[in-house]
Amino acid sequence: MSKTPDLTEPLIRQNSLPELFSKGRSDYESGNVTAVTRRGNLLNAEVMGKAVQPYRVRVGFDEGGLTSVTCSCAYHESEWCEHIVATLFVVMRQPEAIQDRPTLDQLLNQLTLVQTQELVQELVKENPQLMDEIDCYITLKTKTASTPKLSKNQRPSPINSAPFRQQARDILYEGMRYFENLDGEDDPVTEELLDLIDNVQGLIEIGETYNALIVLEAIASACAADWDRVEQYGIDSDDIVIALDEAIAEAILSDSLSSSEVEQWRSRLETLQDEWSTEFALSLESLTQGWDAPDVVEALKGTLLEPELEENSSSNYSPDLVLIRLKILDRQERYQEYLNLAKAKGKMKQYLTMLGSLGRTAEAMEAARNQMKTMEEALSLGQTLRSNGEVSKALEVGGMGLKLPGNCQYELASWTAGLAEELGNVEVELEARQLAFYDNPHTKDYFRIKELARENWSKIQRDLLEALQQYKTLGKTEVKVDIFLNEGLIDEAIACVKDLSDYYSDLLHRVMDAAIKQRPDWVIENARPRAESILDRKKSESYNQAIDWLKKVRSAYLQKEQLEEWRTYRQDLLQTHARKHKFRGMLEDMRLY
Ligand SMILES: [Zn+2]
Repeated sequence: MSKTPDLTEPLIRQNSLPELFSKGRSDYESGNVTAVTRRGNLLNAEVMGKAVQPYRVRVGFDEGGLTSVTCSCAYHESEWCEHIVATLFVVMRQPEAIQDRPTLDQLLNQLTLVQTQELVQELVKENPQLMDEIDCYITLKTKTASTPKLSKNQRPSPINSAPFRQQARDILYEGMRYFENLDGEDDPVTEELLDLIDNVQGLIEIGETYNALIVLEAIASACAADWDRVEQYGIDSDDIVIALDEAIAEAILSDSLSSSEVEQWRSRLETLQDEWSTEFALSLESLTQGWDAPDVVEALKGTLLEPELEENSSSNYSPDLVLIRLKILDRQERYQEYLNLAKAKGKMKQYLTMLGSLGRTAEAMEAARNQMKTMEEALSLGQTLRSNGEVSKALEVGGMGLKLPGNCQYELASWTAGLAEELGNVEVELEARQLAFYDNPHTKDYFRIKELARENWSKIQRDLLEALQQYKTLGKTEVKVDIFLNEGLIDEAIACVKDLSDYYSDLLHRVMDAAIKQRPDWVIENARPRAESILDRKKSESYNQAIDWLKKVRSAYLQKEQLEEWRTYRQDLLQTHARKHKFRGMLEDMRLY
């Protein structure tokens, strides 16, 4: 595997705002990035910034590129902060500066059991708050390791929920302290609570469902007790409540609660709702319905007379009880009931995918032809069939999906095109690549289509270029320029860049270089004001950029065989900016006579 991820400047640019990109690059250039280490697939770096402590940047990667990027600063937008940009510049430009260090696994492997225990004791001595985390971890670990598979209706020994309540409380208090001291915009509370809730999943998976319920209630009650205080720091409870509600509903439906237990849990949940002023709607509904509600029973048997109206596939966003039931049925290997329920409740994606993964390919294909309604369903089924080795069927499903509505056109089309390419199916690949391009144009797809289209190219090209022109997102300007310049469409390339700010100077320079022969006037007309405005603003740190624009102006005059005009212009410029010694010196040095 590659020792560092493949990075390009356009990739970094795409993921950051202009100001932060520039700041990050200058952080890199000023050597503010230190202690860059690589441990396996993880890069760590420290970036000096405004705070006394350096910011910590972590970058995960694999063969496919970056898998995660995080920074300890307060900037938490979807774009990257300047510290991440700066670190990635080091990775890209100075990979030799990265120190190789062992991974945690490699380090721990060098210790004996006793030494590992000493290490943990040492860590706790220095960070006493780790104690509760260790307590929770070990409680869950020893449970999951020691519990034999229980027969139905047999309650395992009850878990001690105190460490979990304490852990949740610690997270809340740590979070509040964090906000007091740092005035940060970060939200450590949500992330850590979600992790804690997620850990309980392990208990559900080994059948310790009642204990899972106890632990989840402990976490919820710790939150309920202190949330009015936490709320003052602007932390929103929605994500946590949704996660708790889903997990509790899953634990309830995975367990077989007696009717008195059902009542007992209903009143506990209602109390929690009141204390926290929130709602555990799914959990309460799952107590009411259980698995005995008549329509659930019918649906599982496959005898529900009128299948319910199909749901919108976007409901995947907030899993409802049906999805939770399907998860449980899958885990309990009750596949026929899974299929019946999914079909009856219109969960077509889950239905098709399960048929595919059970190897019931003929049924899956039949259902795909008659009942598949969205691109998302096709992609999911196609991927399942492919992983089962049914490649030609997978391709067929991809092709069918491309005629359906959906929100994943680019993803489905490029997946289908990739498969068609592997199978040497030119016709399908050509169609799929075009659909991919229409949804989200990429240079690579354009040239691949050109290669495949042969004698049909001129018609297809017209459609692709028209689609490209329609695409107004700024993020696609580079693709447009790539394609237009490659096709010799200078005026089209000029049209995309002429009004861009200097931030896009790389693109502008490329277009100018290509345009100098045919459109020297445009180059002069566009580059002159850019240089002049830098000079007018007296931004001496940008004078080298002004010089770059002036070089373009000069080449364009040369192209027009108007060297005299250039000299006059140059002379005027030197006079106008006679006091800007730095600029004068630079222009002299460049010998741009
Ligand atoms: Zn940062």
